[in-house]
Amino acid sequence: MHGGESGGGGESGAVSGGGAQPESGAGGVDTHCPYCALQCGMTLRAGADGPEVVERTAFPVNRGALCGKGRTSAEVLSTAVRLTGPLVRGADGALAPASWEEALDRVAAGLLRVRAEHGRDAVGVFGGGGLTNEKAYALGKFARVVLRTSQIDYNGRFCMSSAAVAHQRAFGLDRGLPFPLADVSATGCVILVGSNLADTMPPALRYLTELKRNGGTLIVVDPRRTRTAEQADLHLQPRPGTDLALALGLLHLVVAEGRLDTGFIAGRTAGWERTLPAVMAHWPELVERITGVPVPQLRRAVALFCDAPESMVLTARGPEQQAKGTDTVSAWINLCLATGRAGRPLSGYGCLTGQGNGQGGREHGQKADQLPGYRKLDDPAARAHVAAVWGVDPDDLPGPGRSAYELLDALGRDVHALLLMGSNPVVSAPRARHVEERIAALDFLAVCDVVLSETAAMADVVLPVTQWAEETGTTTNLEGRVILRRKAVDPPPGVRSDLEVLGALAGRLGCEKGFPADPEEVFEELRRASAGGPADYSGISYRRIVAEDGVFWPCPRDGAERTETGEPAGTPRLFLDRFATPDGRARFTAVEHRPSAEEPTPEYPYYLTTGRVLAQYQSGAQTRRVRELNAAAPGPFVQLHPRLAARLGVGEGEPIAVTSRRGRAVAPARLSPAIRPDTVFMPFHWPGEGRANTLTNPALDPASRMPEFKVCAVRVERVERVERA
Ligand code: SF4
Repeated sequence: MHGGESGGGGESGAVSGGGAQPESGAGGVDTHCPYCALQCGMTLRAGADGPEVVERTAFPVNRGALCGKGRTSAEVLSTAVRLTGPLVRGADGALAPASWEEALDRVAAGLLRVRAEHGRDAVGVFGGGGLTNEKAYALGKFARVVLRTSQIDYNGRFCMSSAAVAHQRAFGLDRGLPFPLADVSATGCVILVGSNLADTMPPALRYLTELKRNGGTLIVVDPRRTRTAEQADLHLQPRPGTDLALALGLLHLVVAEGRLDTGFIAGRTAGWERTLPAVMAHWPELVERITGVPVPQLRRAVALFCDAPESMVLTARGPEQQAKGTDTVSAWINLCLATGRAGRPLSGYGCLTGQGNGQGGREHGQKADQLPGYRKLDDPAARAHVAAVWGVDPDDLPGPGRSAYELLDALGRDVHALLLMGSNPVVSAPRARHVEERIAALDFLAVCDVVLSETAAMADVVLPVTQWAEETGTTTNLEGRVILRRKAVDPPPGVRSDLEVLGALAGRLGCEKGFPADPEEVFEELRRASAGGPADYSGISYRRIVAEDGVFWPCPRDGAERTETGEPAGTPRLFLDRFATPDGRARFTAVEHRPSAEEPTPEYPYYLTTGRVLAQYQSGAQTRRVRELNAAAPGPFVQLHPRLAARLGVGEGEPIAVTSRRGRAVAPARLSPAIRPDTVFMPFHWPGEGRANTLTNPALDPASRMPEFKVCAVRVERVERVERA
């Protein structure tokens, strides 16, 4: 997510500047957190010093619980930390205040100039997984109808696109969790792969706590003994980048111990025979050598998983952010399918989406290859349907474009102007120094943001936009539950919504109609555009979302399933009768383990893995501006094992340099036995000298085009020794 989820303000009747307008029992406005995919319900009400967040216990997902990020989120509404007027770069090279007319004229002129000089595909658009559904939809439409460029993608590509592809090929449909989060409490065993829920979405941890209280067991797979792993009945601690081999090894034991669900395989799946050779080639001792996980732990994991009456595998960024992320997720799905742990209540595979609208953001058209409703851009029928809703000729719609990193890499070469909304790639993209250089090479950059993020600071024009509680819009949480983030405060007077910005730019670029500023009007069009598609929202309305605490897609307007009140029924649980493939069967995918794009060498002898900490969020553009969060997590660090620290002669808090083939970062050492001695960890929330993404590897998964954030080879040294050299 970027320095501010932006969005559509401008509606009347919200809480004004800190004066609450009661709309809930708590005396405020019911809305949702701006940050992660849990999209916790909260109430915003007037406090003595401005808007304040209070618990909203009635929302079923978080049941009132909020983490520190959500609890302090109102601080980002303060005009002290946010942009309050447009900025335009002057002849002296500095950004200076400008009127909206001047700023919008500059953006339109910049985009038109580049298009005239280099062609339509020389203008790029980069969106974000924190944008509301309405904004993601409008941005995709703007790119394809107004700019007519194929060059649009978004930072959600960095989030869970590998799981999305694996979902599609196994089940025919990609929804993060095919069941409500509450089902996690009631299953028998959960294997949690590469997720540190205790830090990334703490209120969700209660579902794992309840699982254990109900007699279930928790297995955590993570190279670090995180606070989540500490709660596990079994912690498997593989080398970074070896989860695929681990999953194959577990499935090998399932076969060897006669634990296959042959009835399920025969009745509801296809492709098992093709999968078997690679599975049988991963015998336990080999898997122990590859992963470092002892054979007895492998056997115990299989026993816990298979002895439970129902069980689940949940993955997150750990297995997904790899150059083999899609195959890694497929290996975990294969484990579920082979044991019959899919397509039935309380069992299955799910992905824990990361960004606030990571799910909805990829369903409605800001992804390089997609049209709204999760339709494919290269499908003639999909093009015809969406073109009819948009009132354009299907042949005028561009084809698929570059993926996020490839788009960033093309800046200044093939793509010369960029409109960026909802992202801060200078901090969040892999190989960030190179990305920063590519952005600097652009002829023209316009950024819509809430704060002056590191990327916005490089722009020719910065457009200050409304954010979460200043606007209304829908997001889709990790369960596939479409929720309504309601406007609770008025934005500062100099700020406009993203939807208003797109409408104003469309007008300047020759499209007077089709870009309304009212988010509900956009949602109504989105419903029509998604009708009949895989992510069908046509039966969902703002009214229903509020009345029902969210509605799960697919929810087809004309569907046979109806609620008690006769409304089109949503789908909390997918695949119970059939999978979404043409023949209704889930697909095994034959996958094989392979090394990461970079393995340790004498020159770069350690693994680097990256991730998040409790008090910061993504690129930190918002959370780094919140006092309490900054006090808790003020800057980057390098977590390393005490044995490695001793070998390097590094003490707690001393600066150390981490160097990869792409650059060098320096940050204080944080010693911990929780990490493997062959691995160091850096959080990626900060710019500057300690920027973790200076180091990360942009090697892409061939199917999802997701970069390998989770593993690369590095050298780790005391700073003094580096400086002397
Ligand atoms: Fe916000 Fe996520 Fe924290 Fe909930 S868990 S309060 S959605 S950051």
